[in-house]
This record gives sequence, structure tokens and C-alpha cells, in this order.
Amino acid sequence: MQSEGTWQQVEPCTKCGNHEGWYEKRVCKYIQFFDANGDAFDAGNMERVRGGERRFCMGCHKDITDQIKKVPR
Ligand SMILES: [Zn+2]
Repeated sequence: MQSEGTWQQVEPCTKCGNHEGWYEKRVCKYIQFFDANGDAFDAGNMERVRGGERRFCMGCHKDITDQIKKVPR
């Protein structure tokens, strides 16, 4: 399988110095299941539609895509 590395934040954010991680904006479609009384209880078939190309700092929400690199295991 293709598991030659993991994506990691290799440098602190250049904007705010935060080194706690990042988030990606993704658009997904999935199936949401509901009980008869309307409570959501499960979701399946998660499929990314688009997004995930840019990565944003958890601290200041700036684009830090360049600080996220694939690091060999
Ligand atoms: Zn930041």
C-alpha cells in the first residue's frame, strides 16, 4: 500500500507562530441516517467532492499550505 509518509506541520505558522495543527476545507457528500423520531444516528458513504488542497492554521486561520509537508515514517 502507499504509506510512505504522513502529512505533518513541519514548521510553526509564519503568521502567528502556532504549531498546533491545521484544518482543511472540504466539501463532502454522505448519507445521513435518522431514527423514526428524527434523531440522527449514523452516517455513511463519506465521499470527498472537492476541497482539501489548501491548509489553514488552527490559530490564526491563515493559509499555511507551505508548512505542511509529507514526512517519511
Ligand atoms: Zn497561524
